[in-house]
Amino acid sequence: MITVLSGGTGTPKLLQGLKEVVDPSDLTIIVNTLENDYFSGVYVSADIDTVMYTMSDMINDELWYGVKNDTFITHERLEEIGCGELLRIGDIDRATKIQKTQLMEKYGLCKACEIQAKNMGISSRIIPMSEEDSEIKIITDIGELEFHDFLIKHQSAPEVLDLKFSKVNPAEGIIDSIKNSNAVIIGPSNPITSISPILSLDGVRDALKDAYVIAVSPIIGSDSVSGPASKFMKALDIEVSSVGVASLYDDFLDLMVIDNKDEDKKIKVNQIINKVIVTNTIMNNLDAKINLAEIIIDSIP
Ligand code: GDP
Repeated sequence: MITVLSGGTGTPKLLQGLKEVVDPSDLTIIVNTLENDYFSGVYVSADIDTVMYTMSDMINDELWYGVKNDTFITHERLEEIGCGELLRIGDIDRATKIQKTQLMEKYGLCKACEIQAKNMGISSRIIPMSEEDSEIKIITDIGELEFHDFLIKHQSAPEVLDLKFSKVNPAEGIIDSIKNSNAVIIGPSNPITSISPILSLDGVRDALKDAYVIAVSPIIGSDSVSGPASKFMKALDIEVSSVGVASLYDDFLDLMVIDNKDEDKKIKVNQIINKVIVTNTIMNNLDAKINLAEIIIDSIP
């Protein structure tokens, strides 16, 4: 049994490799819910949906958002009638989100995801990190912004001065899953807005201290591969490098995987984390994803 902590871009890439290397029914994926919110009347849990679409081979893996080859008839019509929406939601994706919204009202988010994953033929367990919605505020040079306003409306352009999110309770099953796993993999996800919300849940850090934990750095050189992770790290005074990422996980991490381009940082990362593997972590094709997944699985004692 392996538990994976995931956001919605870097780790799903690794999941595409992992599901070829291990039996998907041996995977439990704990997914960030920090950014969940309602848009156009439907509940959008972007990272959860990305993980579900990834595990069912439906993902649009150019955008790491939505369903591949989706149509946008409803989105375009909404714009025509003056109901333009911040998120570009595809028609098939919207159907998933409408179903999730309805299931959630009846059963809560975790059960809704369990039902949807089963309907999609996914044998892995996908657990949202919490049943509760988080509040997140990004403090920028143009004022306080909601996460999606910062990310989409302002295209992550404002300078980030600080970032705050509320504390929520862990979903049922998360701590047990970590405790019962042979290893926990922290994929190369945004350490501030995807992984740190999961780590902030009561009991998670303590459970990780007793587990064998492997993390892949989402920072290569002095920047993130994609997205605003480096901006958030800078705002919180964390060195933007694999060394900075290592420092965030130093109380529980057993093995850190860093990129070939960061060979020069190996000694510094090693001063923080016991074991370090240097390899290609840029997952721009399936072979690279499978290779990285194999290296990680082979490293589990
Ligand atoms: P989000 O929810 O869309 O922000 O996605 P995640 O938090 O899962 O992932 C964002 C992080 O993934 C960014 O910090 C990227 O640097 C990292 N990332 C994306 N692709 C890759 C890759 O191929 N290799 C590595 N090492 N990191 C990646």
